[in-house]
Amino acid sequence: MESLREEVLSGAVGGVARPGVDTRLTHGGRDPASFHGLVNIPACRGSTIVAPSLDEWDARKRPGNPMASYGRFGSPLSRAFEQTVADLEGGHAAIVFPSGLAACTHALLSLVRPGDHLLVTDSVYGPVRSFALGVLQRLGVEVEFYDPRIGGDIRTRLRQNTRVVYVESPGSITFEMQDIAAIAQEAHRVDAFVVMDNTWATPLFFRPFEHGVDVSIQAATKYIVGHSDALLGVATANQATWDLLRQGAHDFGQTAGPDDLYLALRGLRSLGVRLRRHQAGALEVAQWLSDHPAVARVMHPALPGDPGHALWRRDYLGASGLFAVALRPVPTAQLRCFFDRLQLFGLGLSWGGYESLVLPVDPPARVCAPSLPGPLVRIHVGLEDPADLIADLDQALKAMRGLVPCARGQVV
Ligand SMILES: *Cc1c(COP(=O)(O)O)cnc(C)c1O
Repeated sequence: MESLREEVLSGAVGGVARPGVDTRLTHGGRDPASFHGLVNIPACRGSTIVAPSLDEWDARKRPGNPMASYGRFGSPLSRAFEQTVADLEGGHAAIVFPSGLAACTHALLSLVRPGDHLLVTDSVYGPVRSFALGVLQRLGVEVEFYDPRIGGDIRTRLRQNTRVVYVESPGSITFEMQDIAAIAQEAHRVDAFVVMDNTWATPLFFRPFEHGVDVSIQAATKYIVGHSDALLGVATANQATWDLLRQGAHDFGQTAGPDDLYLALRGLRSLGVRLRRHQAGALEVAQWLSDHPAVARVMHPALPGDPGHALWRRDYLGASGLFAVALRPVPTAQLRCFFDRLQLFGLGLSWGGYESLVLPVDPPARVCAPSLPGPLVRIHVGLEDPADLIADLDQALKAMRGLVPCARGQVV
């Protein structure tokens, strides 16, 4: 019965079409028959896993045996989560990490060697930039940043010793879209790996392995967990890269705790409906902001005027809830007024939860930074009613422009 379930999910049953993504989100990795009928895999705690006989102990240690002999090598929860994510991403296999950043850094560490050349998009998530410039350079890796819009011209930056091209699309903070397929095609000519941070789109809105990516990373902390209550990362590799990634993760003792894995699996079940709602809400808010006199530019690839819009249309199946706005120049005191007046938007790091967030972001110290007229604000649109979010932004922007008093409770 259970094997039939798995065969149906993998599309291996003759005549049965591979189920749609929401069906796979709902059923992937679940196996009630193995857990007394419980719908969800319980949060299993365990370090040691004992064997009933020496024969079985030896069998467990055989390479490639999926049955773990120790908690660090996996649990029913981690395997269910990894297999479901690998299936959604369209890769061969996945491995969990205790945070999204750990997934990024360990994916890189598992691939690069001293003397290698690493190409990193200039729009990369800030902590990955710091890691490359700090740890990787110290280990003898030559790090070079490239313009995220480079596309196939990446060939002019590739060298014989280029080991990895790191991509992130759209980029953190400034949301440039990248031509992943063109970059991957060139990178593979010199046998370089393409590592992608696919957190913004999730596997639902971008299928990285169909565009030539070798390792795809999710900061599961964001949309997969989806409720701002756990930190988790996961990296998926294609078959050719899997052994390196897995070995790299194991060598560094990477694991994740049962509660976080449980929450991530639970988050996956509703990822489809949440993402579509984030998408619709963010588009509504972004469109409203793009008509606002205080706003100079909205950076959101699903908006028709965005420089990355054509690439987004060509390659993406949707847009999530995170984007940025460049405001027109405004004195700091007035900008403070904007943030202080917001009621529904929390002021904080991270994103991907059900709640809306704003964050003032400094223009990144980059090799090819876009010129911005005024302060940059990153916005995550949560699951609230978009009309309420717009009303909240409206009153905060009015206060910023001096049209209503800055302090709350004062009505004009
Ligand atoms: C947040 C984030 C990460 C890191 O995830 P954590 O779980 O916070 O470590 C990596 N990449 C991107 C694009 C992110 O936004």
